[in-house]
Amino acid sequence: MIYGAIEAGGTKMVCAIGTAEGHLIDQLTFPTKDPAETIPQLVAFFQGKSITALGIGSFGPVDLRTDSPTYGHILDTPKLAWQQFDFVGALQRELKVPVGFDTDVNAACLGEMTYGSAQGLNNVVYITIGTGIGAGIAINGQLLHGMLHPEAGHILMKPHPEDSYPGFCPYHKACFEGMASGPAIEDRWGEKAANLQDNAQVWALESYYIAQALVNYIMVLSPEKIILGGGVMKQKQLFPLIRKQVAEMINGYLKTKELEDLDNYIVPNSLNENQGILGALELAKRARF
Ligand SMILES: [Zn+2]
Repeated sequence: MIYGAIEAGGTKMVCAIGTAEGHLIDQLTFPTKDPAETIPQLVAFFQGKSITALGIGSFGPVDLRTDSPTYGHILDTPKLAWQQFDFVGALQRELKVPVGFDTDVNAACLGEMTYGSAQGLNNVVYITIGTGIGAGIAINGQLLHGMLHPEAGHILMKPHPEDSYPGFCPYHKACFEGMASGPAIEDRWGEKAANLQDNAQVWALESYYIAQALVNYIMVLSPEKIILGGGVMKQKQLFPLIRKQVAEMINGYLKTKELEDLDNYIVPNSLNENQGILGALELAKRARF
C-alpha cells in the first residue's frame, strides 16, 4: 500500500508518497502560499497516486481534538490566509482518504520513534530550534496533545547573569524562543547565527538557554531521549556544550542510566531531515475515517 505525507510549514510544503516500511518513493517541495493556491497544488501531487491514507504534520496552532467542530483546522496563526482554515477537511474532500493530523513537531517526534534514533522508546522529546522553537512530545508511547498541544518553546527562562538581552518573543520577551531562536540570536548579536560560528560567547549563551529548557523538560516529562533539530542545531559545536551544562544544572539530583550516557541521551536528529515527512507517513498509516 502507498501512503501520502505532508510536512506543512509556514514557508514550505513538503509532500511525499511512501510505503508502509517508510521508503519514500516520490517527494516534492514548494513554497507555502495562500490555501487557494497551495491546496490545489497538494491535491494535484497526490491525485492518481492511489494513496490509501494521508498524514499531515502541520505548522500551528492547530485543533487536534477529534470531538471539536474545528478539528483539523489551523487556528490563530500570523499567516492570515490560513487562520481558521479547515486543512484536514479541504484535503479529505478532494482526495477521499482518511487523514491523520498532528503538529509538525509531533510528526518529527513520531518519525524518530518509528524510523530513527528513538525506535523502541516510549517517552521522547523532539525539539526544533530555528525560526521558532517547538517540541513534539511522546509520553507512554502516545503523542501529547492535552488541551491544545504543548508549546514548549515558550517556557520562561532565567536570564544568564551576563546576558542583558531582553528577549524577542512578543508575548513573553525572555521565553525559550525569545532568547534562543534564530531570530533572537540575530537580534542579540546583529548577525545571523550561521555567521557567528567562531564566536564562543554566542554558543556559550545559546547552550545555556537550551540546557535550561532541557533540564525543565527532563524534570517534568522524564524522557528517555531528547532529540534536537532545526537550523540552529546545525551548529554541531552546541551538543557537547549543552550536555555539559545539562549535567551541571541537574547537579547530581537525578541518577539514571540515560543521564550517565549523555552522548546518547541528547542527540541530533537522525533521518537526514526526513523526520517530519516520515512522521507524517506514519500518521497516514494510523489514520482512520
Ligand atoms: Zn514566548
